[in-house]
Amino acid sequence: YTGKKGNQLISETLNKILVKDYKAVPVVIKEEASVYDAIVMMFLEDVGTLAVIKNKGILAGIVSRKDLLKAAIGKQNLQEIPISIIMTRMPNIITCQLDDPLVNVANKLIHYQIDSIPVVRPFDGLDGLEVVGRITKTTITKAFVELVNEKDI
Ligand code: ADP
Repeated sequence: YTGKKGNQLISETLNKILVKDYKAVPVVIKEEASVYDAIVMMFLEDVGTLAVIKNKGILAGIVSRKDLLKAAIGKQNLQEIPISIIMTRMPNIITCQLDDPLVNVANKLIHYQIDSIPVVRPFDGLDGLEVVGRITKTTITKAFVELVNEKDI
């Protein structure tokens, strides 16, 4: 008997579950794209949030469903509005990294009241962050369910 309390064992187990083992593929759109393009991509890719990128995949911002709804209200031509003017932009983006414990990211989703967090890594030789994945509420739910099925973590 190790003398560890149940909740200590649970948090030790949870801290071993890392972003890199559960991340989903990033769904990205270029910052020159229009609000119209973003709406179409959101339906085609079946996601609620898009990562907006500039050259070489560097993170520029995030557009959510509500960002697009807001932009669409009362506006005539959605093909002429670039997403770069409606997105939430860097440096105000909440991000996570490959080696972060998934539970820390879950905590950020709750704390900032957002649905999705891009997984990033520093871009070699350039200022900025490269988008390499995403963590969503669905990712967290999947990991939670898998905990029951896995014998050893
Ligand atoms: P929705 O607005 O569709 O409900 P969210 O709750 O995720 O989706 O987004 C709320 C707001 O927070 C939006 O303006 C969105 O641009 C912004 N947002 C979403 N994800 C992030 C993030 N990872 N970092 C910073 N802001 C974000």
